[in-house]
Amino acid sequence: MNSYEAVIGLEVHVQLNTAAKIFCSCSAEFGAEANSHVCPVCMGFPGTLPVLNGAAVDKAVQVGLALGCEIQKFSIFDRKSYFYPDLPKAYQITQMFYPICLGGSLNIDTKSGSRRINLTRIHMEEDAGKLIHGEGESAAYSYVDFNRASVPLVEIVSEPDIRSAEEARLYLQKLRTILRYINVSDCNMEEGSLRCDANISIRPVGEAELGTKVEIKNMNSFRNVQHAIEYEIARQTEILSEGGHIRQQTRLWDNDRGITLAMRSKENAHDYRYFPDPDLFPLKLTDEKIERLKKTIPELPDSRKARFMQEYSLSAQDADLLVSEKDYADFYEDALKIYSSPKNIANWIMSELLRVVNQKGLSIFNAGVAPADIAQLVKLIESGAISGKQGKEVFAEAVETGKTPEAIVSEKGLSQLSDKGELYGIVQKVVKANPSEAERFKSGEEKLLGFFVGLVIKESRGKANPKLVNEILKETLK
Ligand SMILES: [Zn+2]
Repeated sequence: MNSYEAVIGLEVHVQLNTAAKIFCSCSAEFGAEANSHVCPVCMGFPGTLPVLNGAAVDKAVQVGLALGCEIQKFSIFDRKSYFYPDLPKAYQITQMFYPICLGGSLNIDTKSGSRRINLTRIHMEEDAGKLIHGEGESAAYSYVDFNRASVPLVEIVSEPDIRSAEEARLYLQKLRTILRYINVSDCNMEEGSLRCDANISIRPVGEAELGTKVEIKNMNSFRNVQHAIEYEIARQTEILSEGGHIRQQTRLWDNDRGITLAMRSKENAHDYRYFPDPDLFPLKLTDEKIERLKKTIPELPDSRKARFMQEYSLSAQDADLLVSEKDYADFYEDALKIYSSPKNIANWIMSELLRVVNQKGLSIFNAGVAPADIAQLVKLIESGAISGKQGKEVFAEAVETGKTPEAIVSEKGLSQLSDKGELYGIVQKVVKANPSEAERFKSGEEKLLGFFVGLVIKESRGKANPKLVNEILKETLK
């Protein structure tokens, strides 16, 4: 069963987050009332003319620049004809022969090291409407919502460089991270602003020729992508192992049943009768425009990760987590500007803050504490003003109330007892009250130190600085 290798290429559709649709001025916003963002152009009325949205072009170029593509200064929009109720013009405007970007690549970090996945091309196109199938009494009907019709998309096509279901998931996650860094899409798979189709074939290990490929659709989460591809590799392996043949077809992932199902035999390109759209000029880009857009690309996750590891001595794992969202990395560096404690600030963000962010489903900048608050909190702990345990209380209170850590510490009288004289007094009292334990400690029963530390902290009502208590106890019980 292990003598086959998988050859996988992904086609990823990404909705660009422009205010307007790609060929008309209707809003491209997600989630509005059905058919409230429509006009004669995106409804495909006869006699209307598309006008290309420059903002969509800028974002497509930014995608290409962030992925290292060759931006094409000349590209053409084509019509792809097919009949389906979600497509009002009965053709989709896309780019077949001269796409806006060629080449490019992205790196994924696998267990066995970094791997480069090459891209074939990126082209621009318009989205189709959305079919909604009736249930219950309306089960005989299907409805169409044209709000999505003509929302701008880029389709990012990879080379068949991916070798496993896990690599496919890593590729998608990396792509999502990069696209979110450059703010061209929210890349929400559940809402459909990032959609993925996979072309999968298998071949005997060592064979150069490609096997018959099957296209898988309808995988709407990163986990489903991995499961669907795992399933499909196993299905094809079983067929070939038993001497059968793979049929070229499109299959749908059925998430409830955890299997792929045959949908249709794969169309060939000529079924779509592609030809240049006579209503749209060829798209020409100047060097100046490409240069201007290049300047808008921020530091991307790979280089930011390398810099975090070098500049702040973070582990690869910590750096990975902090650069996985641009907001996390920005928040982190904002906090460091106020108080430079790279390791501790990273720990507070990764353990406490991201837990709140994930629980509440908020962005890190809206979770209730600002970068300055985390900086202040870490400073309070490092200076010994409060204990780490008190820090957690202060953090929870800050998230809840929006007050600054300093304000909470002074309001609650939380400051840690670090006065050596006062601590010395408490230690004396505790040792005097427990003479037999003190004797046992002195004769070598060192584990009793914890017993005394606990009593001293209790006596101080939790305020004693444990580090100082330890020192003073060792001194006293010598
Ligand atoms: Zn419209």
